[in-house]
Amino acid sequence: ALGIGIVGLPNVGKSTLFNALSGSAKAQAANYPFCTIDPNVGVVPVPDERLAKLARLFQPKKTTPTTLEFVDIAGLVAGASKGEGLGNQFLSHIRQVDAVAHVLRCFDDPDVVHVAGKVDPRGDRDVVETELMLKDLESVEKRRERAQKNAKAPGKPGELAKAELAALERVKAGLEQGKPVRAQKLSEDDRAAIADLFLLTSKPVIYVANVDEAQLARAGEDPRVQAVKALAAEEGYEAVVLCGKVEAEIAELPEAERIEFLRELGLTSPGLNLLVHAGYRELGLITFLTAGEDECRAWTVKEGARAPQAAGVIHTDFERGFIKAEVMRVEDLLTLGSEHAVREKGLMRVEGKEYVVQDGDVMHFRFNV
Ligand code: GDP
Repeated sequence: ALGIGIVGLPNVGKSTLFNALSGSAKAQAANYPFCTIDPNVGVVPVPDERLAKLARLFQPKKTTPTTLEFVDIAGLVAGASKGEGLGNQFLSHIRQVDAVAHVLRCFDDPDVVHVAGKVDPRGDRDVVETELMLKDLESVEKRRERAQKNAKAPGKPGELAKAELAALERVKAGLEQGKPVRAQKLSEDDRAAIADLFLLTSKPVIYVANVDEAQLARAGEDPRVQAVKALAAEEGYEAVVLCGKVEAEIAELPEAERIEFLRELGLTSPGLNLLVHAGYRELGLITFLTAGEDECRAWTVKEGARAPQAAGVIHTDFERGFIKAEVMRVEDLLTLGSEHAVREKGLMRVEGKEYVVQDGDVMHFRFNV
């Protein structure tokens, strides 16, 4: 499964955020069968207005959102790459996720000790990033020694090892200049050569500015929040501003009371939704939908997936026996009010094996069993 690891220094609000994510999952779908795979893994529904509207239209027996996995990765401290704190164990958890939500503390609270003595999101980020880069250097170095040996072999294997060696040298040089792998300009071939190292700094990042409740409505004016936004902008990634504590409270509220609570705080949607959506985007995921009287449901595929793969997400048999897909746009279905009307207007398309699924497609599959 595709997952997002929540990282950051101690006491920046990671667990609070993770608990809020888990809490909102429980509140939104009390009977989630896969809610508790692991105490550190939360399966979170992806909020989707379109699905909610489809459900209003079809009044199905069941409405099922698509989900995204979050992993609470505790234990990162300065020196982790050398085994401080939970050290290596912690770092191996990062290896398994596909993107990282890096929580940066922007809140003041004299009761919550800051490990570095002051609230400094950019400094904190550098501490964490340095540990991750040191660990990556170690992985690259190990692999380089092996490639060096293999490069002496004659013929094709030797050639391949030489190419790998060259790629590793470039990555190593970048890391030594303080550049995370994700920010290095590498060729496709170089990326392929290091793919199986699952380097920690190769994963996309979402910076999370965790602010105080009091800051929330005017968070944009806070210099620390601005620093986080600037950081994200420099790297070309997203920044999400939220208050972990408030998110945890929102998650506990019944749906109906949430909107009022948010309005009182000067917000329009929970920060968690912004985070889930940012994660979804960073992972390159899109949603297609299925709609009927029995169930309205959102499903996830990788951007670029073709119709048979989408069918396979529902059931492997659907992929194997795929014949064609009937596709309409969710906005057409919602505006026209019924599938029948969409057909009448000629807006229902029949697509084959090569069709590239688009975010917001409503699909029916025809298949052989
Ligand atoms: P972790 O070590 O990064 O997992 O941090 P925790 O989630 O355990 O939070 C550390 C402390 O900071 C706890 O006492 C939280 O209640 C507090 N905290 C977390 N988020 C916020 C926040 O948004 N505002 C304030 N004031 N305190 C927070």
